[in-house]
Amino acid sequence: MTQLSPLGRPLRPSGKLLQEDTRRHHRALLLQRLFRDGPASRADLARTTGLTRVTVSELVGTMVADGLVEELGAPAESRVGKPPTLVGVAAESTHIVSLDLSADDRLTGAVLNLAGHVVARCERPLAGRKGAAATALVHELADELVAMTSRPVLGIGVGSPGVVDALGTVLDAPNLGWHGTALAEGLREHTALPVFVANDANTAALGEHTFGHAQGGGLMVLRVGNGVGAGLILEGTLLHGHRAAAGEIGHVVVDPRGEPCACGRTGCLETLLAVPHLRRRLAASTSRTRVLADTGRRLGAALAPVVGTLNLHELVLSGPVELLDGPLRDAVESTIRRRTMPVIGDELVVRTSTLGDDVVLAGAAVLVLAGELGVS
Ligand SMILES: [Zn+2]
Repeated sequence: MTQLSPLGRPLRPSGKLLQEDTRRHHRALLLQRLFRDGPASRADLARTTGLTRVTVSELVGTMVADGLVEELGAPAESRVGKPPTLVGVAAESTHIVSLDLSADDRLTGAVLNLAGHVVARCERPLAGRKGAAATALVHELADELVAMTSRPVLGIGVGSPGVVDALGTVLDAPNLGWHGTALAEGLREHTALPVFVANDANTAALGEHTFGHAQGGGLMVLRVGNGVGAGLILEGTLLHGHRAAAGEIGHVVVDPRGEPCACGRTGCLETLLAVPHLRRRLAASTSRTRVLADTGRRLGAALAPVVGTLNLHELVLSGPVELLDGPLRDAVESTIRRRTMPVIGDELVVRTSTLGDDVVLAGAAVLVLAGELGVS
């Protein structure tokens, strides 16, 4: 069923599967190879996927007919004999509509091509809308974006704040007044397109994983905005947790003597790190570097057990770069290294996101690629 969320499955198919959807799986293998490594000949595809050349030729033929893949001619330098024809993903063949609902004052959206490049943008001021009014605004923005496409639309991906289940129902998003809101189902009925919805931090992790030069080991993307949340990809699979709330580290208490938090507890990570709190402390201090380094050390202390437990390879800080890069990032890295075994800390990469503000939009496109094509 293509309408189900793809997120419970491994993101990157890696072997053969003897089921009725074998053909779809094989197609996903080929597309994954072309997305990840760029154009290849049919013979290369057969060798690297383990599929037979007959299967590869047949599936490539179908994908060329569908417009997803295009013939690119022979490589510039080829050995003697008949040069192989390269095939590659037809980036401009298809459009994807992405929505990022994570800002507190507006909904943003974009049209992306298959390569994840933004070709058009649109946004709507939220102006305090909540509940059904916020849902209506999402529908309006999606309509506008679909109208801006100039290619067939593969689907709509949405990164939403709050806890989102595997079917795209927002279980709880207080800022938008959504509780048990079937966002994916409603938008699917409204647009008659495939729709995939996930939590914004999880969506950011997918964006970083596929389009942000992630290196393939365990990845945590920590989103720092009005709130704090994380998305985790382990062994090629997005982590959901028992009740779809994996990564909700923002309301873990890191300082019992700290500031009161909006959630009712005291000293949550969010009271330390969320942008409004951080800016307020910076404004009240004479040493910007000291505040940022101190925040980084405390963040590192909170994350070290997670990094150590999961043996993460990359920790990506996503949010305002002028706050996160520099003393804060440096302190996070050195603190985690000091508090974990060398085997954990030696190769850990702590960096800011290369995708900047577009990380959720890029990830929302990955939701659609994964759900419709089995590619991530
Ligand atoms: Zn809290």
